[in-house]
Amino acid sequence: MRMKGNGIFSVTVLLFCLTASAQKGAKKALFIIVDGIPADVVEKVATPNLDQIAATGHYRRAYVGGEKDGYSPQTPTISAVSYNSLLTGTWVNKHNVWDNNIKEPNYNYWTIFRLYKEQYPKGKTAVFSSWTDNRTKFVGEGLPQTGNLQLDDHFDGYELDTVRFPHDKAGDFMHRIDEQVATDAVATIKKSAPELSWMYLEYTDDMGHMYGDSPQFYAAVEKMDQQIGRIWAAIQERQKRFGEDWLIFITTDHGRDEKTGRGHGGQSPRQRTTWMVTNLKRINAYT
Ligand SMILES: [Zn+2]
Repeated sequence: MRMKGNGIFSVTVLLFCLTASAQKGAKKALFIIVDGIPADVVEKVATPNLDQIAATGHYRRAYVGGEKDGYSPQTPTISAVSYNSLLTGTWVNKHNVWDNNIKEPNYNYWTIFRLYKEQYPKGKTAVFSSWTDNRTKFVGEGLPQTGNLQLDDHFDGYELDTVRFPHDKAGDFMHRIDEQVATDAVATIKKSAPELSWMYLEYTDDMGHMYGDSPQFYAAVEKMDQQIGRIWAAIQERQKRFGEDWLIFITTDHGRDEKTGRGHGGQSPRQRTTWMVTNLKRINAYT
């Protein structure tokens, strides 16, 4: 990214945007989380596709981790914790996912998927992800606590498929999984274009843990950008062909530590500082 912003983009604004746009029926929304990319890195590394999307809308810095010394509690800067903050618009004291084990989410705080389905039972939803948990635990598909919420389509669980994606020490398998996830998302956008979908890409975080701030990590960010580019091309094609009105958000779940760039989970500024890219034009003053 070359653009810089220093506003704070609230998760509640995101939630509002998604539900508001979905109310207009023909609109489509895609929400993407890319794992563990600090704002300074996405601003430094060449990400022409993110830049292109931001040029039609906005790039903003944002934050995770709750409010430091505020009314809201601090929230660990860990993937699963942040996903649920992004999906429910609440911090950890409410959604109750404290780590990646995702023991006991509090489903009283509805995800964007449940809010959407409640309003538009016929609207189509989908998840594209290496993790199965994103569907089974966060969205809570088929659980009584979520009113037996059902997604219409899902492509996930590749992490468990060690035959198709044998785990190698270098961690390349996760890039191959992300490629598959992006391919699934592109195919689904082209074919059925769900009204609300969530895509998750993981490889960047793996490279961050392995190499910290490094050429390897930056290369992973570039690969992510290329995958986003394929998605954006599919969306643009649909907009042209069918006159659909697409809303896209791309964000990250946490930054990384200042010293090495390998770790996260704490409350330092770099771990808390995230970012969002969207093609949404109208954003409010709070942003
Ligand atoms: Zn991580």
